[in-house]
Amino acid sequence: MAEACYLCWEVELPERRKKGMKYFGILKEFVIDSGICSHCTTCANICPVRGITAGDKPIDFPNWIELCVDCGACIRVCPRWNYVPLKGMGDYIEILGAKSKRFRGQDGGLVTEIIASAMEMGEIDRAIFVGRDDEWKPVIIHVKSVEQLEGERIRGTKYSFADVIVELRDAVFHTEKGVGVIGTPCMVSGVRKLQKVVKRYSENVKLVVGLFCTENFYHHQLSEFLAEKGIDLTKAVKTDIKKGKFIVEFEDGSKTSFSVKEFDEIIPSGCKVCQDFSGVESDVSVGSVGTPDGYSTVMVRTEIAKKIMDYIRKKDYVEFTEPKPAVVEKLVKYKVKIHPYPPEKKE
Ligand SMILES: Cc1cc2nc3c(=O)[nH]c(=O)nc-3n(C[C@H](O)[C@H](O)[C@H](O)COP(=O)(O)OP(=O)(O)OC[C@H]3O[C@@H](n4cnc5c(N)ncnc54)[C@H](O)[C@@H]3O)c2cc1C
Repeated sequence: MAEACYLCWEVELPERRKKGMKYFGILKEFVIDSGICSHCTTCANICPVRGITAGDKPIDFPNWIELCVDCGACIRVCPRWNYVPLKGMGDYIEILGAKSKRFRGQDGGLVTEIIASAMEMGEIDRAIFVGRDDEWKPVIIHVKSVEQLEGERIRGTKYSFADVIVELRDAVFHTEKGVGVIGTPCMVSGVRKLQKVVKRYSENVKLVVGLFCTENFYHHQLSEFLAEKGIDLTKAVKTDIKKGKFIVEFEDGSKTSFSVKEFDEIIPSGCKVCQDFSGVESDVSVGSVGTPDGYSTVMVRTEIAKKIMDYIRKKDYVEFTEPKPAVVEKLVKYKVKIHPYPPEKKE
């Protein structure tokens, strides 16, 4: 039966798995401490007392016993509550291989191209990007113009958790035309949950771009790991994961690489139960695998994404190449295989 909630009018509260325990305590026990939290930060976005913390450490709510107002919102939007992993290629209208003629990016710069085009079309007036500082710590950037996208550090992949969804709160309050969000598959699921329960998100988030993803990292763990290998991230201009190798490219054009298997101990436990490689809930998914170097693979899933791709075609903003969906599918299946859920118990 629904419990009364003084903050959320006409809201059905989630199941209280532990009688007498506040909702954040329940989320902590069943999602965070049980090791399945993906660090998507959707709970931190919705917490009405701004008590839930994210950043470069596990999700927490210091002093929740006293400060949590027990509204249950964190559980309602958590993609890992009653977790059923998403998987597969998902529905899509078309799959393309493309490279932007305007923007250089991690691969074909298609994420940046899609956002820039959506802005030109007037579909959105802002988007949340992940830039970086000298040490490759993710920095959230609210992009409000196509010119801003010319900034070198704003594009490209940062292999670290970033508070995109926390920052989405500010964006949905200030937008006039709509917001574009870019995120890993778990973040995409967080946005979809927000859209289901909060009207402001369903009305104002107009475009959700999902990035193909196998895993992400805490910045401090990744940089410590690389430092032990003698890699100075402050000198890096690009980091990439390709064909099982983590590659760091430096200012002078030199590169160093090693097997991602060496990373196993710093892969967060929440990533190890994720089976969604392609971001099945996004409007458009973009990734590296499935096209030659320098191109992005683009899975157009919804009408808004199709409209933007049609505009991009008409404007002749990209060069196309033949994509290989079978290669994407291989990775989609591989992720399910390496990330079993429930996790296999180690002897
Ligand atoms: C953690 C992570 C793991 C990935 N793993 C794979 C993989 O295994 N296989 C694969 O094919 N592709 C993977 N990708 C996607 C790939 O690295 C590129 O992001 C994608 O191909 C888009 O390239 P682009 O040139 O079109 O993007 P660009 O035009 O360069 O734009 C990149 C976009 O990514 C956003 N971004 C960067 N870092 C983050 C972050 N940490 N969190 C959220 N958004 C971020 C930026 O804000 C920007 O919008 C991964 C991406 C991330 C963030």
